[in-house]
Formats: sequence, C-alpha cells, structure tokens
Amino acid sequence: MALEIVRVPVLSDNYVWLVHEPMSGETMVVDPAVAPPVLEKAEELGWKISQIWNTHWHPDHTGGNAEIKEVTGCTITGPAAEAERIPTLDVQVKGGDAVRLGEVTAHVIHVPAHTAGHIAFHFADEKAAFVGDTLFAMGCGRLFEGTAEQMFNNMRALEALGDETDIYCAHEYTLSNGRFALTVEPDNTALAQRMEEVVVLRDRGEPTVPTTIALEKATNPFMRARSVAELAARRAAKDAA
Ligand SMILES: [Zn+2]
Repeated sequence: MALEIVRVPVLSDNYVWLVHEPMSGETMVVDPAVAPPVLEKAEELGWKISQIWNTHWHPDHTGGNAEIKEVTGCTITGPAAEAERIPTLDVQVKGGDAVRLGEVTAHVIHVPAHTAGHIAFHFADEKAAFVGDTLFAMGCGRLFEGTAEQMFNNMRALEALGDETDIYCAHEYTLSNGRFALTVEPDNTALAQRMEEVVVLRDRGEPTVPTTIALEKATNPFMRARSVAELAARRAAKDAA
C-alpha cells in the first residue's frame, strides 16, 4: 500500500495514528489525544508532520492539536459540523468531500451518532479507513449525540467499504467488546476463535487493531445487528454491562 501507518498508544487505551505518504513525504496524524508521544514518534521515524485530521471533537481526539500545530506548523482538518468545538481547525470538511495527503486522496464519510458531526476518512485505493469512535473491534461507539438508527446506518456505510478494508479505530477496547459480544452470540465460532487470539495478544500487551471489515462482519454484534431495534438493545446492554 502507498501509505505507512504507525500506531502511537497514548493515555489508557487511545491509539493515535501516524500516516506517512512516502511519494510526497507528507505525514498526517489522526486524532492526537496528546502531543508529546506523537511528536517523539514522528521524530524517531524521521517523519515531518504536515497535517492533522480529526474525526470528532472529543478531547481525547483533539487534545494534541494546538501543541503539534505550534511545533510543526501543520494544517488541521476536521468536521465542519463540530468546528465550534474544535477551535484549532484550519479546514472544515463534510461527508462526500475529498482530502489529500500528498499523492493520495481520502474521502470523508459522515458517521453521526457517537457525536453529531463525527466523520471517518476512507483511502479507497489503499483500502484503509480511519473511523475514530464509530466502529471498534467487535464494538461500536457510544451514542452520545445520536441515535441507534444513525449507528445502524453507519454500520451499513462502513460495511460497504468492502471486506478487505483495514479499519483503524481510536481505542483498544477489543477485550471488553469481545466479552460482551460472546454474551450476545455464544455460538458464533468465528467470534470464539477471535477472542482466543485477542486474549493471547492482550496478555502479551500487544494491540488488536487495525481490524478489517470482513472480521467485523463475522464477529461484531453491532455490525451484525439485523435491525435498528436490535442494535439499540445491544448498545443499551453493553452500556449497562
Ligand atoms: Zn469519542
């Protein structure tokens, strides 16, 4: 693929993603919760940060914006609908827009529900999507500013990106999500097998993301919900767990 993608684990369970486009030499950061570990990792790799892309306004996705911009002079792109809550934004985008990183282009997908203006970035040619807090490994984001119907539609929009698409989410929630998923579908063998692998990885302190659309279609109870009502019931049960 024409992108090099490096994970920077920060705070208790956030993943910030450094995305390098080698033809142009541009480097972009997705959802920097904080600045110092991101700046350090970029320096270690010899990558010069030229852009930040935000998926939504939550502080654990935007908290590093100002400091990274101050140090690097980068341009910050994020959801127009949340511009008031992300005062560091330079470029406002909405669903259907295209955003460039050097020689490659991502398309913006509007995925409201976790927040009202939440967006995802999809690199179609590179088969990679940065989904923030919308889709997680075996989970989905909480419905803070939207409805189960919106999240159900988001699952359809992300599913449509294709099985091979790598999904870069913003948190390591996989173990807890998987335990909940097993209560929903105790007889799902793909899920049981995935959980065995996840337990081993987490025991070793290793990450379980990115995931893929194919894996989520097979094991994610929110992507697998057959109706809005079913997704809503599962979300409520997970919130109460
Ligand atoms: Zn969030």
